[in-house]
Amino acid sequence: MSKSKTPAKPIICYSVESLPTFDKVFYDNARDGMEKIDEVLVQPRDGSTFNVPAGHFFRINSIEGAQVGDLNLWNANDLNERFFSGKTRQLHASHVTTGDRLWSNLPGLRPVATITHDTLEWYGWDEDGAGIHDVIGTRCDPYTNFMLNGIDYHHCCHSNLTRALATHTEKATTEIEHHVHDVLNVFMCTGFTLDTHQYFMKASPVRPGDFIEFFAEIDLLGALSACPGGDCGSSHSDDSTPCYPLLVEIFKPSEGSLDGWSSPSPSGYSRTHGV
Ligand SMILES: [Zn+2]
Repeated sequence: MSKSKTPAKPIICYSVESLPTFDKVFYDNARDGMEKIDEVLVQPRDGSTFNVPAGHFFRINSIEGAQVGDLNLWNANDLNERFFSGKTRQLHASHVTTGDRLWSNLPGLRPVATITHDTLEWYGWDEDGAGIHDVIGTRCDPYTNFMLNGIDYHHCCHSNLTRALATHTEKATTEIEHHVHDVLNVFMCTGFTLDTHQYFMKASPVRPGDFIEFFAEIDLLGALSACPGGDCGSSHSDDSTPCYPLLVEIFKPSEGSLDGWSSPSPSGYSRTHGV
């Protein structure tokens, strides 16, 4: 019998229609007249942490030059709950934009942040199948770099995020490194090649003035690395590319705009696993 590929039509794995829809009116009302209360400048080839109370907004801004950022998010009150890029990818898409949510790992599985504005939303998908802000890559890291190139490089996003979290928690990097997780690749332009389905990157279209904005659904601790790849148009995990800082801004919502809103609860699953 000859082999043949299934003629069946693809079906979307998850019935996401049952998720709460993006309440644009609610978020627009909260961001109308919001007030900036803090900012953190992330230096090139380095990382920094920032806190965002539930119900506040934060923006990641491109300043000075085209630059990609690697974002980690934790429950500020429990580092064991953190952003789950894999499930976010399954629930939304390989790249995220306005209206999409960033979900937390099991057993919490709740939206920890909602994207409320994205100046690069216009990009959509290009002829190579690339998009912006992916949840498919992990983060550049010194272990993969060592495996492939045999050298120690200390300013990969994984190390930048690790140092930032170690500084924030006042713990040794070896104690907290395991909390660093798969990222949201902010401003990065990526996809899978159409022929071999390999992960690729191309120069990001981000320019100073562009930003992506999030609503914190729970109390968040964030960490952002300004990737050593710069705009990720040529290489990463080295010092050969021009790199620029990224600016994180924190905003308090407009007065009274959150009346009736409450932070989402962790998953209601019983956790008995059939035992
Ligand atoms: Zn990186």
